[in-house]
Amino acid sequence: LEASFSVIQKEEGDFNGLITVLHDVTEQEKIEQERREFVANVSHELRTPLTSMKSYLEALEDGALHDPTIAPKFLNVAQTETERMIRLVNDLLQLSKMDSKDYRLNFDTIDVTKLVNSIIDRYELVSDSEKLAFIRNIEDQTTFATVDRDKLIQVLDNIFSNAVKYSPEGGEIRISLEESEKHFSISVSDEGVGIPEESLPQVFDRFYRVDKARSRKLGGTGLGLAIAKQIILAHGGSISVDSEWNVGTTIMLTLPYSAEKVVV
Ligand code: ADP
Repeated sequence: LEASFSVIQKEEGDFNGLITVLHDVTEQEKIEQERREFVANVSHELRTPLTSMKSYLEALEDGALHDPTIAPKFLNVAQTETERMIRLVNDLLQLSKMDSKDYRLNFDTIDVTKLVNSIIDRYELVSDSEKLAFIRNIEDQTTFATVDRDKLIQVLDNIFSNAVKYSPEGGEIRISLEESEKHFSISVSDEGVGIPEESLPQVFDRFYRVDKARSRKLGGTGLGLAIAKQIILAHGGSISVDSEWNVGTTIMLTLPYSAEKVVV
């Protein structure tokens, strides 16, 4: 707490009163501290791929360019790192848009069952069925809800891509859609590496990863779940994680049927 005092005096010098102003500097300091940490994180996240690209480009310039086996590999690394940086910058732009005061969702009434099924179809199409199985625990029904369609797709994409990234070969990914009176829930369970218990409260924090090196190698930005949480909260919903190290992870989200009426 910070206090400032002003003495009120009449012209002839009589002491008239005292004004005391109290500021809550702890809250301000916390925001400032978080901002500094965020900028440091962003700088670090960008410097890592840039440094790696620089050394690969230098090696190419020093002769690797003329080696027909090495050159394509080095160019491939540079390309992968560039793609990850683009993803990172897009994620950052998305977060910064959502942080702004006049951020609005675009509501539409859609059939959520259809949407979830179409996303699973898409993942099934690009993944090898021998290596990964998608199991639907979804009734043949329509589930009308008023949500921001594109944003909900983004949330599910972030959760699905994590389940795929952290799953072992031959793993199963189970998707459930359940309805209750006022809400519907979607859960995605995998049989992957899992998350240690002490890390669970932090997985929705910006840039938090259980294993930084592995996440980077798999193309992660450390922002996927933070973005998912922010979108779900803006819909008046909730998101939670349940996981056991080396056993698997479940991410569950619960949303009201009509997010439009929710004032956050
Ligand atoms: P990333 O881009 O690193 O995947 P996220 O914000 O999506 O970032 O997730 C944060 C961290 O939470 C991940 O780095 C990983 O450690 C952990 N995590 C998220 N989903 C899973 C999952 N399905 N299985 C195991 N770990 C997960």
